[in-house]
Amino acid sequence: MLRSKLTDVIVSAHVNNFKIGRSGKTVIKITPHHVAGNLSVEAIGKIFQDPNRKASSHYGIGSDGRVGSYVTEDNTPYTSSSVDNDSQAITIEVANIGKSPNWEVSDQALNKLVDLCVDICQRYNIKAINYTGDKTGNLTRHNMFSATSCPGAYLQSKFPWIQTEVNRRLGAVAPTPPKPVAPTPLKSIDVIAREVIAGKWNVGAERVRLLTNAGYNASQVQARVNEILKPPTKVTPPSNTLDQVARDVIHGKYGNEPGRSANLRKAGYDPVAVQKRVNEMLKR
Ligand SMILES: [Zn+2]
Repeated sequence: MLRSKLTDVIVSAHVNNFKIGRSGKTVIKITPHHVAGNLSVEAIGKIFQDPNRKASSHYGIGSDGRVGSYVTEDNTPYTSSSVDNDSQAITIEVANIGKSPNWEVSDQALNKLVDLCVDICQRYNIKAINYTGDKTGNLTRHNMFSATSCPGAYLQSKFPWIQTEVNRRLGAVAPTPPKPVAPTPLKSIDVIAREVIAGKWNVGAERVRLLTNAGYNASQVQARVNEILKPPTKVTPPSNTLDQVARDVIHGKYGNEPGRSANLRKAGYDPVAVQKRVNEMLKR
């Protein structure tokens, strides 16, 4: 009759809801689950007492941080849609204080989950948690074995933290993280801006969402779109300045050719018109 000393409440699951023994396997994994509801450890246990439930777990953790024990550790509960996983795992249901889609859990529950993981690792001589993100690691998830939202977005996001915390407490050296996969190179802002103009990124808030999800800064893209769409600025000098410019040319302000025409153009004037006026003025 193996139970963690962290157990606060024992509610034994109906014998229909777990498999006797470990099928010759040893405990080498931990699989945290989410309850998909804010149930007390007693209420979770009650569900596993239903002889037709065909489901159970070793432990449950309530939002108050208390621990319920339902199936002893020498037996195999039906928790993760994988008897192979569960025959090598301790499974833990964690209550939720939040609802779908994030299914948040309380800090008390999360901290107790770390305590329980440390206790399990120490008792089964598991040197370190190695969360690989797939079933080869020893911190596994229900959604690695079947299409389910379990363990919920929030708890799943905490798996790397759980690994770090448990290993710190075990005094274990963190396992080498898997080699980072080179991210798909992002297209340049200019290319994306042109795609936006071409209508490939929807409009309004949906556009912002799509761009953000794809890894772009939506306001940066919009700024580039605005730049592209802005008509080019033309300096059209009022006609009465033509004489002034022509006089400036005569006084050498714009230099001599070949540079003069370029200087005039840069300043927004038509060198041909200016030269014509210069010639007229000099003919007088
Ligand atoms: Zn689950």
